[in-house]
Amino acid sequence: MDDEMKKKISIGIAVGCIAIAAVITIVTYRSGTGGPNPNASVMLLCTNPQCGNIFELKQSDVAPKETSDGGDAAGIRTFKCPKCNQMSGQIAIKCSKCGNVFLPNYKDITIYDKCPKCGYSAYEQSNK
Ligand SMILES: [Zn+2]
Ligand SMILES: [Zn+2]
Repeated sequence: MDDEMKKKISIGIAVGCIAIAAVITIVTYRSGTGGPNPNASVMLLCTNPQCGNIFELKQSDVAPKETSDGGDAAGIRTFKCPKCNQMSGQIAIKCSKCGNVFLPNYKDITIYDKCPKCGYSAYEQSNK
């Protein structure tokens, strides 16, 4: 592997991490009246296929911390589901159009909140 290739891979990893951090920041701080509000709640979706529970946590509980606690290798943080007690809860988005709850698209930040059910994206609408 030459240096050029190594450079490209490390840039790719860095960009991926930035995208994930940006999405989490947008999702956690967007809800409510704008601006950080530690008492606002954040929607979470349990990724356990046997569970699929939708629950809420306080923004202060899901805000990214300096120290890394939990989260898988991809850098996506997970939270304990109150229903199945697995660390399978992930920050989710509720579609303001059809009410569907889904996980943000970490691969493409420009459509991170596009609803897989009806295709509505508040981010897309506000950036037109
Ligand atoms: Zn669960
Ligand atoms: Zn929808």
